Amino acid sequence: MQRRGKVLIGFSLGAFAGVVLLFTSTTWFLYTESLKAEEQEVANLARALGERTERIIVEAREMLDAFNKFPMERCSKEHLRAMHEVAVAHPHIRAIGYWRAAERLCGVGFIQGVALRPSRADRIYESGVIAWWPKPETEIGGVQLFLMRYGEHDVAIDPRMLLEAGPMQDRLAGLWVENLRMAATPWNAELPSPDTLSNGLTVDHENYRLVFRYSLGTIFPIDVVAIEPIGRFWSRYESALIIAAMLGLLLAALWIYAISRYSQHRLSLATELRETLKRNKLQTQYQPVVDLITDRCVGAEALARWVREDGETISPDIFIPVAEVAGLVPDITLAVLKTTLSDLGKLLQEFSDLRINLNLAPEDLESEKFGRAMSEYLEQANVPTSAIKLEITERALVNSETSRSLIRAFRQRGHEVAIDDFGTGYSSLSYLESFELDTLKIDKSFVDAIGTDAVTSNVIGHVIDMAKSLGLDTVAEGVETPEQVSWLVEHKVNYGQGYLFSKPLTASKFHDFFRSHRERRRRKRR
Ligand code: C2E
Ligand code: CA
Ligand code: CA
Repeated sequence: MQRRGKVLIGFSLGAFAGVVLLFTSTTWFLYTESLKAEEQEVANLARALGERTERIIVEAREMLDAFNKFPMERCSKEHLRAMHEVAVAHPHIRAIGYWRAAERLCGVGFIQGVALRPSRADRIYESGVIAWWPKPETEIGGVQLFLMRYGEHDVAIDPRMLLEAGPMQDRLAGLWVENLRMAATPWNAELPSPDTLSNGLTVDHENYRLVFRYSLGTIFPIDVVAIEPIGRFWSRYESALIIAAMLGLLLAALWIYAISRYSQHRLSLATELRETLKRNKLQTQYQPVVDLITDRCVGAEALARWVREDGETISPDIFIPVAEVAGLVPDITLAVLKTTLSDLGKLLQEFSDLRINLNLAPEDLESEKFGRAMSEYLEQANVPTSAIKLEITERALVNSETSRSLIRAFRQRGHEVAIDDFGTGYSSLSYLESFELDTLKIDKSFVDAIGTDAVTSNVIGHVIDMAKSLGLDTVAEGVETPEQVSWLVEHKVNYGQGYLFSKPLTASKFHDFFRSHRERRRRKRR
């Protein structure tokens, strides 16, 4: 119970640690992805705004150039109408005017020619463009306009319209021409001047925001600065992360519940198994071992079978591990021995060369207790010691000193000893040499590999050679095809066990099998 509690706590902590790890890595992943997306967004915004401004200015100059080349009388009705049409078609154009030398003679749009008479131009470019930056002198109707003259014509542009950014949420943007702030969204936004920034992305850790500067300059040097707060990550993913955390915790709880149910199940399985043993209800089946050349039955392996009250048969592969944890394995070995003696005692008395193999577990090799109990049982049943052959797995030989002397004692009493599942552990020839053995059982996995290209198909040859060099009999386990038999006979393997000969049988079926496989031999002999 104590052990179970510890295991449960371990599993719970593991499950929670897993959830926390998963959650933090997901959050980190989302955070970096979100940052990348925000960087992309702010860059796209700055570029879009800069390119739009540039396009407006280039188009405005092309428009002025077209008017300069227009072959019509200046300030005529036709001239004014043409200018008017262009002005009303563009929301950012407030006026278009005609100049002769330093005088604006006529104009159209929201401002009449006379209304706009700024003094000196701010800038005259080599391209012929003359610029007046927005200032009180260019203010009409509360808006300081940006004037651009090219040749004989000029255009008054509402700079606010150059920064038509659409919905901005909590982003900021500003436009500079010749390092003069023309417009911003929102109009009063606090923005760093472009000459304090390098081109491209700046991560402003102090204010927790991304700043992007984008510069162009076909006609005027234009700079756009766009700003995106980093903090949008939480508002964006908050609900998703909360849901993920809840789901994670729910999963952890379900996992812990399943584990505790499972361990309870194992526990109740152990209780039930203990009951079964107490009531002598564990059954045994016998799988014949035959001589590969004569087909004669030389013995059988006793295999434990647990048939529950509801008729369900539980495989030893499941209940042996349960029994190991519950410390019931020595009881199982003795229970199998006991049923074997009562099922086959008479047969064993009659045929002294018949061997029944008993599977020993590592626990049986820990002390002499098992050996003594076994001797008692055999004596009571009046069955010779040699009738019971002991199968020991490589795994059970770990505690080598004790098992070596126990094995020696078993053999001195008359038991033969087989090494089981050979090849699945770590045993080497030299290690095996140090034990006194009679038989080597070649594991089914090697027999399966016969006639295939599997790597293990080479190993079986070495295993057989090893057995020969130690002077051991060989039994191939899990033989299922006649081809395997031919191969095994060719390689001088003595005995076989497997579905090809017989599945594990009940005691009475085994009696039949045994008699027929002895009588057949007798008939052959005659
Ligand atoms: P194992 O000692 O290697 O026993 C051989 C297993 O292979 C048996 O399974 C047997 O039914 C199966 N088998 C035999 N021939 C063939 C074949 O041709 N094809 C296939 N696919 N399988 C074949 P089983 O009875 O389910 O036993 C499983 C394992 O449980 C045994 O492996 C043994 O390690 C353990 N076991 C069984 N009875 C006892 C027992 O009384 N005491 C202990 N400690 N362990 C036992
Ligand atoms: Ca075995
Ligand atoms: Ca085996």
